[in-house]
Amino acid sequence: MTGHPFRDTLHVSASQVNAYLICPERFRLQYVECRSPSHRSGDLLFGSAVHGALAEYHRRLQANPVVPVPVDDLLQAFDRHMEEGQQGPVPVMWEDDDGPDKLRATGRGLLEMYCQTIRHNRILGVEKEFRVPRRDPVTGKELDECLVGVVDLMEQEADGTVWITELKTAARRFDDTRLSYDHQATIYGLARATLGYPEARVRFRVLLKTKKAAIETYELRRDAQQFAETKRVVHQVLRAVDAGIFYPQRGWQCANCAYRAACGT
Ligand code: SF4
Repeated sequence: MTGHPFRDTLHVSASQVNAYLICPERFRLQYVECRSPSHRSGDLLFGSAVHGALAEYHRRLQANPVVPVPVDDLLQAFDRHMEEGQQGPVPVMWEDDDGPDKLRATGRGLLEMYCQTIRHNRILGVEKEFRVPRRDPVTGKELDECLVGVVDLMEQEADGTVWITELKTAARRFDDTRLSYDHQATIYGLARATLGYPEARVRFRVLLKTKKAAIETYELRRDAQQFAETKRVVHQVLRAVDAGIFYPQRGWQCANCAYRAACGT
């Protein structure tokens, strides 16, 4: 036991690792001190509402593959998730040019497009949790903490190929560096065996809220070097947390930071 809630849980997720890499001070406030955020961004709420609506949609398709889900049901689920998010205890901060009405219209358009263009042969799982044991990258000794996460969707094509699909909402296309080194995708690659499909392929399906809305799919292949890099980064982040290494990383991430008032305290 290490004396603070984050390290006592003995697991770490890709989003926590990314949070540390973006700003160690924000990580400290959120996960070590467990401070309440001052607000929730409209973008985050939008992404959660899209995820929530699609999870319901995929669950219905999994339960009844031959019965199509009406697009109106998907849109109503999205509206409901947006509404619930807005009524939550944490106030929402909307971007000037991305208010609730605009995001609602964008989300409905993207989900309609999803319903009309994305086909699913066989859904194997929706929001599947995983837990991957970790080893010390130098000594090979098994460590106490596991890597944990939840994959949005597991599906199988008619030719037998199994896909782990992570759904994303984004304001711009992903660049090559992100696609090659995104730790979340690499961790999904590491989780394939524990999910029961060691040969599964990993992809991001991105719902783009660009001027002209689009849905793009990227396959994410990983080699031994990329797996080793992510394992090393996870290990070093945890060592830094244990050593109390936290510092403000000022930049674009400060603009919408929900821990700004507490930063540096
Ligand atoms: S305001 Fe900036 S430096 Fe401070 S915690 Fe937030 S992201 Fe980090």
